[in-house]
Order: sequence, then C-alpha cells, then structure tokens
Amino acid sequence: MKLPDLDQDAVVACVDLVARTGAKSFEVGYLDDDVPLEQARWYAQAFLRGARIVAQEKEGPDEACDALARRILRGGRCNHCQKTVALSGTQGVMCVWYRDRDAWVQGCTGKRRATRDKD
Ligand SMILES: [Zn+2]
Repeated sequence: MKLPDLDQDAVVACVDLVARTGAKSFEVGYLDDDVPLEQARWYAQAFLRGARIVAQEKEGPDEACDALARRILRGGRCNHCQKTVALSGTQGVMCVWYRDRDAWVQGCTGKRRATRDKD
C-alpha cells in the first residue's frame, strides 16, 4: 500500500505524544477495504488512563493521527507548567501547544517533545 502525500511528521508527532502519555496501546487503521484509500475511513486510537480515545472517519492515517493527538492534548494538563493545554490562542492562562513538523511543542518552554530531540 502506498499513500501519496502522507504527512509522516503528523504520524511521528502523534506516536511520540502517545508514548509520552503512558498509553497502554496505540492503533492506526482503516475500516473499509476495496475502496480508494482516502475513502477507507481511517482511525487512530489510544487507551489512556482507562479510557479509549479515538479519532475516526479521516481520509488518511496522518489526518487520523493528527486528530488523535489534538484530542489527547486539548484540555489536558501541561506536564511542565501544570496549566491546561490549549491548541490555539495566546500563551498565558492556558499553555498553548502546537505542532512543529514532527513534534508537538510545549508553549511554556518552546521545547520540541519528539523522541529524536531529547533534551
Ligand atoms: Zn506548559
């Protein structure tokens, strides 16, 4: 299977994020065979602190992974500043995280949190 235009960075960033949360499992897949890949209904899911978190009905594994990462982050607590994580807005009351290529970045420190950029 070859996926054109796959945003590998989104997948790498998601896998790294999921690994750092201590998730029990992580899965990316699709529901429908015999359809064009973008119609296969891609999903990504993780089991985290006793709950299944899922992003589904996406057009590719990269979109599914990016959506899953955003779902995990939004409303979570930054492990550095202890503020609630937001994905947009201004750094202040919330800690605004964003994705920089293949890593999610803590708004409070500006540190890339990818495994290949250990600090
Ligand atoms: Zn923070």
